[in-house]
Amino acid sequence: MPSAPASALISIDHEELVIRRGRRSGVYTIVAVHSTTLGPALGGCRMWRYESSADAARDALRLSRAMTFKASAAGLSLGGGKAVINVPPGPAPSGRARRDILADFGDTVGILEGNYWTAEDVGTGARDMTVIAKETRYVTGLPRSSGGSGDPSPFTALGVEAAMRSSCQRVFGSTSLKGRTVAIIGAGRVGSRLARLLSRAGAKLLLADIDERKRSLAKELKNTRWTDPSTALLAEVDILAPCALGGAIDEWNVSRLRCGLVCGSANNQLAHEGLGEDLATQGILYAPDFIANAGGLINVATELDPEGYDAARVKRRVLGIEETMDQIYDEAEREGVPPLVSAYALARRRLSDAGTELR
Ligand code: NAD
Repeated sequence: MPSAPASALISIDHEELVIRRGRRSGVYTIVAVHSTTLGPALGGCRMWRYESSADAARDALRLSRAMTFKASAAGLSLGGGKAVINVPPGPAPSGRARRDILADFGDTVGILEGNYWTAEDVGTGARDMTVIAKETRYVTGLPRSSGGSGDPSPFTALGVEAAMRSSCQRVFGSTSLKGRTVAIIGAGRVGSRLARLLSRAGAKLLLADIDERKRSLAKELKNTRWTDPSTALLAEVDILAPCALGGAIDEWNVSRLRCGLVCGSANNQLAHEGLGEDLATQGILYAPDFIANAGGLINVATELDPEGYDAARVKRRVLGIEETMDQIYDEAEREGVPPLVSAYALARRRLSDAGTELR
């Protein structure tokens, strides 16, 4: 597991930061609650190796703030939170050692008494959630066999497709995806499902992943070609869909892109947010990632509905991402700002109406 880079100092406007050394594992588990203005903070638990505990805490602070904006823009009654487990050097923990770390993390979640609910994130999965759930009830995303909503990726992919329809209307004058050329970078849980949805909708796909084993999907789907990630990134296509890790678009490649629209599932697709302006200047529409990829969060959030989880309700809400995206583009056009700016404005307005002003 590579170590995460040290990040810059960030300012704190959070409600709580809990850092505990686990009594079983000795490992630090960290939860940052940024805001509970709209409801309990919900955000995944990232298991990662950081250079220092300070770096891990900084990441939790940064990620939890982003969750506040994501939940608010998605219209959810949820706040922003995130957890980080700073795993020790060496191979990724497994077996007893992993269970001890997760149980210690469960204790940390428990002492927040429902101000924070956890879910899976990079380095954790649905099976880990069942271990955490032995220590605390504030857990979402359990496997379906344990009464949870399971893997959120199908809903994330559905939301990205909805965001694409709204975006295609702006760029190409039609919501239809039939005949559109789409480069999907990252054929993982979300990217592979997005490829299936788009293939079914009649799009022509260029599929890329660093993992050659994903090539078989390109053989299976209609109108789909396999290529390497750097070719896909700069290919002449209607839509570029980054579905791997963050930072796909950077200072170097932004002026070399040959697409009309960027719309994918990856978090933090832009290496820095100023690139949203660069894309707009080049006439490339950017569908803000935290709006387009909210389907997974909407899915786990529905587990907290008083009436209980219902997949049909989740689907309706996720398809609503198309309308949210329409609103964001309308406002961006009215105000003459990039869509990323109007997406943040939408999130800030809901929080402001509830009494919290955020920069
Ligand atoms: P995943 O780990 O299942 O898939 C990621 C895929 O990207 C893998 O196949 C991996 O081999 C590939 N990859 C990694 N680096 C690459 C590179 N440089 N070039 C090309 N391919 C590369 O992850 P996922 O759950 O599908 O998530 C994909 C992205 O979407 C992540 O950024 C994640 O944070 C974001 N996201 C996921 C969800 C969800 O529901 N899973 C929700 C919101 C956001």
